[in-house]
Amino acid sequence: MMQERLEGHKARKRFGQNFLHDAHWIGRIANAVSAEPGQAIVEIGPGQAALTRELVGAAGHIRAVEIDRDLAAWLRTQFTPEQLTLIEQDALTVDWSALAQEQPLRIVGNLPYNISSPLLFSLMAAADHVIDQHFMLQREVIDRMVAQPGSKTYGRLSVMLQWRYKMYKLFDVPPGAFTPAPKVVSSVVRMIPRAKEDVAAVDFPLFSSIVANAFGQRRKTLRNALSQLLSEQDIRAAGVDPQARAETLPLEAFVALTRRAEALGVKPVIAGAV
Ligand code: SAM
Repeated sequence: MMQERLEGHKARKRFGQNFLHDAHWIGRIANAVSAEPGQAIVEIGPGQAALTRELVGAAGHIRAVEIDRDLAAWLRTQFTPEQLTLIEQDALTVDWSALAQEQPLRIVGNLPYNISSPLLFSLMAAADHVIDQHFMLQREVIDRMVAQPGSKTYGRLSVMLQWRYKMYKLFDVPPGAFTPAPKVVSSVVRMIPRAKEDVAAVDFPLFSSIVANAFGQRRKTLRNALSQLLSEQDIRAAGVDPQARAETLPLEAFVALTRRAEALGVKPVIAGAV
């Protein structure tokens, strides 16, 4: 069944607009989320309402954050205020904790791929206020998120997100499910914040810095990659082999390195992007 859409809307590349049109895939994502009345559902990027209709149908009311003014104006014609609270804003500037003041959030989105990493990191700061997140992203990004040590895709995104979330790759979605069709396959991921007591306590900026530097030059040994932060002796004192490469190390090793650096009063050193 075709969903009603905004006629004549030209997909905007700068907003990462690839709209879902295939009822099968829309249904599978909605099933994975299983929204229920009374839950605080927030959709990021409702677009032409493919998922929004399902979520509103299941939960009765949801909130949604949309940056595109034309789509926002159209969305207001499709739903009553009792069904949809529209937040016309850049999702990167949303105060997620404030949205969760009354109730923890369930966040859903077929995300604009061009802002996926910064968005994932800004959401991480509010993870205490979140029940779960279901996101569609490029398969390549989700493979990196869930990768385990020793795999080619294991990197900074894997370590940082796995520190805070349990993550499950659910299924792939083919390019033909979207208009316009993206060049790559997409996947859906479920992210569940770890309970506070299960999150290794670390100085977050220092942890970020150690992980970023360790993966900054993947071919380097830790001794070289972390030379601005920890000496070879200190890496060894943390119980980690200074000759090892970052991609072989489990999360616990990065935590141990951070704790050693904390004990020594080391300050974070900025490294490149994710
Ligand atoms: N949910 C719709 C679907 O599945 O068909 C649209 C998905 S489309 C990949 C991404 C949506 O996010 C678009 O509606 C786009 O306008 C919106 N968007 C892009 N950047 C955004 C931002 N920074 N903040 C909020 N929404 C954004």
